[in-house]
Amino acid sequence: MMLPNSAQEDDTFVWTVEGQPCGEFSASKTWEALRPKESEKEWADLVWFKGSTPKQAFHMWLANLDRLPTRSRLASWGMNIPITCCLCGVSEETRDHLFLHCQFSQVLWKAVLQKLKLPQTLFTDWRALLAWSKDFNPSSPKTLRILVVHAVVYNVWRQRNNIYHNQVSIPPLTIFRDIDRLIRNSITARRNLKSFRNLMALWLS
Ligand SMILES: [Zn+2]
Repeated sequence: MMLPNSAQEDDTFVWTVEGQPCGEFSASKTWEALRPKESEKEWADLVWFKGSTPKQAFHMWLANLDRLPTRSRLASWGMNIPITCCLCGVSEETRDHLFLHCQFSQVLWKAVLQKLKLPQTLFTDWRALLAWSKDFNPSSPKTLRILVVHAVVYNVWRQRNNIYHNQVSIPPLTIFRDIDRLIRNSITARRNLKSFRNLMALWLS
């Protein structure tokens, strides 16, 4: 084999990432090749989706991992507090109770399902809520369902904190009006995204 001869032509270099020449150096391609990777979680697109509201998505991420400081979790860390739910004062305040089974949240889910013209459903556990969010039909596409789930979970926690920190109690149907407004605002702000295009008509019909 002939050694390259600089007298004949200039040296060139090629940047390759995982065997593929990629022209110029690309920080993003290089990082993608080097970073530690885990397979995508099955719930990822229910938490992070195009058009989500960042603070609601972040909150949903925490709720989904069961990392919110519910009274049940606070007590398990050794805090000497009652573990009864801030919203109903009856059951133990776990994530699933707070967001799915509490009478306060059930009023909200009932109102939401009615608005989406869907049969009344009781979400038995968190997995059932995720399965419902992934499902869709013509009157409630997946994006609308996820928007609703984010808004309900976010507002239930907000109201729970309102009672926990400020002792301010607001009836669930008043909270539902806030949720309704949040959803309308989200849809209006993202009306140029394909997945949001028909949602307002569906939500208002
Ligand atoms: Zn409760």
